[in-house]
Amino acid sequence: MTTLDVDQSPIPLLDLAEINRTVSAELDLAWRGVRGHGHFVGGAEVERFESAFAEFCEVAGAVGVANGTDALELVLAGLDIGPGDEVVLPGNTFIATAEAVCAVGAVPVFVDVLEDTLLIDPDAVAAAVTSRTAAVIAVHLYGQMADMDRLLAVAGRYGLALVEDAAQAHGARWSGRRAGSSGHGAGFSFYPGKNLGALGDGGAVTSNDRELLGRIRRIADHGRSSTDRHRHDIRGRNSRLDTLQAAVLSVKLPHLESQNARRRTVMAEYRATLPTHVVPVADDPRSETVHHLAVVRVRDRDSTVKALDRSAIGWGIHYPVPCHRQPAFAEFRTAALPITEAAAGRILSLPMSPTMTIDQVRRVASALARGAR
Ligand SMILES: *Cc1c(COP(=O)(O)O)cnc(C)c1O
Repeated sequence: MTTLDVDQSPIPLLDLAEINRTVSAELDLAWRGVRGHGHFVGGAEVERFESAFAEFCEVAGAVGVANGTDALELVLAGLDIGPGDEVVLPGNTFIATAEAVCAVGAVPVFVDVLEDTLLIDPDAVAAAVTSRTAAVIAVHLYGQMADMDRLLAVAGRYGLALVEDAAQAHGARWSGRRAGSSGHGAGFSFYPGKNLGALGDGGAVTSNDRELLGRIRRIADHGRSSTDRHRHDIRGRNSRLDTLQAAVLSVKLPHLESQNARRRTVMAEYRATLPTHVVPVADDPRSETVHHLAVVRVRDRDSTVKALDRSAIGWGIHYPVPCHRQPAFAEFRTAALPITEAAAGRILSLPMSPTMTIDQVRRVASALARGAR
C-alpha cells in the first residue's frame, strides 16, 4: 500500500549538515578571515565571541575553553574544589559531568532525578549532603533547566557551590533567568551536535563572578599571570577555544534564538501527534526549554525502535546506562537510584533538529502509531 506521493526519505536524529548549510557562506568567510591573518589560538575572534556569548546568557562574562568537559572541570577547579570534597550530581546525565568531578580529585555522589522531568531532585541533593559536600551540579539535561529556585535554596542552606552543566541548554530559561546565569559558575559545550555547535570541539564557562572567571582563564592558559606571560603563579593546564571555532560560533550564535524557537515548535507538534503509548518527558512551566533532545518514554523500546528503523527514522538513547552504573565509576557505587534506573530502560530520543518540518514530525508520529499495532 505504498503510495508514490508519500515522502519516504530518511529522517536523521539530528540534521547537522542541513543546520550548517543554512550558514555556509558566512562560515566560508569566517574560515578565510582566520586563515588569512594566521592567528589560530586566542585573539580578537575569541574575545568577540566571549562577549557575545556572555551577553546572550545575560551574565557578567564568559571564558572560551577547549570543550564542555573541561569547562565543568575548570569551574570546579576555579572554586577550589578537589581531593577530600564531595560533589553531588544526578545519575541521569552524560558521563562528562562525573568525569569533571573526578578530574579535580573530588568524589562524585550520584542522586536520583524527578519522575516527570528526569532532572536532579533537589530533595535528594539535600539528603545527600555530608560535612564533605562542597558543590552540587545542576544538569540542565535535554534542554530543560533543573529547578534552580530549590537548588539555590539547598545550596544556600548548606553553604555549597551551585555549578550548572548547561551543555544541553544554551538559551534555556528558568523563571526568566538564562541557563548559566544563576549558579556560581556554568559549563557549556559547543560539541557539533549541541544547540550551539562548533565545527569541532569547543566549550565555555560563564559566571557573574569576575574573579572566578579570571582564575579560570589563568588555569586554562598554563597558569599564566595576566601581566607577564612568562610568569606562572599557579599550576595550570591548556584548555583554550580555537580562534577558528570562535569565528564559527560567532556566525552561528545570532541564529540560536530562532533555532531554539523552532525546536519548541517541533516539540509542540510531537505532543499534539504522538500516539498515547509514547509519552514525552514533562516540561516544567517555569522552564523555557530549548529541546536539545526530544526524549519520550515508551512501553516496549525494542519493538518501537524496530518500527522507526523500518521507516528510516533516526533515534538515540540518552542514556542507556546511568553514570552510577558505569564500570568507570564502580568504586563510587552507592545507593540504587530507582527513577534513574527505571527511566534508562524506557527512554528514547526522537529526531529533533531546528530544520525539521511539521511533515517530518507527523511521519515520525505515524511510524510510531503503526509500530504499536
Ligand atoms: C556534551 C555534554 C558535556 C560535555 O561536553 P564536551 O564538549 O563533549 O566535552 C557535558 N555534560 C553534558 C550534559 C553534555 O551533554
